[in-house]
Amino acid sequence: MSLLLSEHPWVFVGMALVLGLIVGSFLNVLVWRLPKMLEREWRAQAHEILGLPAEPAGPAYNLMRPNSCCPHCDHPIRPWENIPVLSYLILRGRCAHCREPISPRYPFTELACALICATVAWHFGFGWQAGAVMVLSWGLLAMSLIDADHQLLPDVLVLPLLWLGLILNSADMLATLPSALWGAVIGYMSLWSVFWLFKLVTGKDGMGHGDFKLLALLGAWGGWQILPMTLLMASLFGVFAGLLLMRLRKAQASTPMPFGPYLAIAGWIALLWGGQITDFYLQSVGFR
Ligand SMILES: [Zn+2]
Repeated sequence: MSLLLSEHPWVFVGMALVLGLIVGSFLNVLVWRLPKMLEREWRAQAHEILGLPAEPAGPAYNLMRPNSCCPHCDHPIRPWENIPVLSYLILRGRCAHCREPISPRYPFTELACALICATVAWHFGFGWQAGAVMVLSWGLLAMSLIDADHQLLPDVLVLPLLWLGLILNSADMLATLPSALWGAVIGYMSLWSVFWLFKLVTGKDGMGHGDFKLLALLGAWGGWQILPMTLLMASLFGVFAGLLLMRLRKAQASTPMPFGPYLAIAGWIALLWGGQITDFYLQSVGFR
């Protein structure tokens, strides 16, 4: 089996594509439910700290329960209506029961996850590296969507992935352990310093603490070497997207903008193609 997959990379890419569709479907659930689960937890904790009577515990709400249903008519989603992308096309983007439109974001997330997995499979070929980077990519995709929706990068996603990066690099999977360790430290400290400098000068919070942890995570996976490029690209993406949104008059300069998605995309690109991008840049400015 492993011989087949390493000798025929396209078989592996095809399998990654299918896996990506299935995982993407689960990420849709995670992105929708995790913030609600966290909010419930925080409310319960706040009640406890303030000495208020506990709120009545409602029905179970987690990643497994209750089963998915249409938000308009509560029609339970049957298995055939839950096939990634395909069901959306068959149902023509509408609920099978009440015909209310289903957000195109669901099939797009599934498709994006599939393409990301296929790219990772193609880039690394069959092996542990591809598997590890796929897990990282799922996490980054989920975090980006949650941050875009709620301006929140949940610790429960960021911190385990940060540790996983360090553990995998203890076997030099994508970077040496020292460069991964310093990647995490410098990643955190660099945005932490920017945060405090900005706060001292303007008195405002320029970004969330989740952003420091996310950059630490990226450093833990790719080593400190990917940090400058990640920050540069993320800032460029952020400025570009900000200008685009202002141009469309959907945002003003003061509208809070999550930085997490740009960091995640930039870090992912730097992890996969950082070396090539640097070489290309040095060649084009005539250094090599
Ligand atoms: Zn419905």
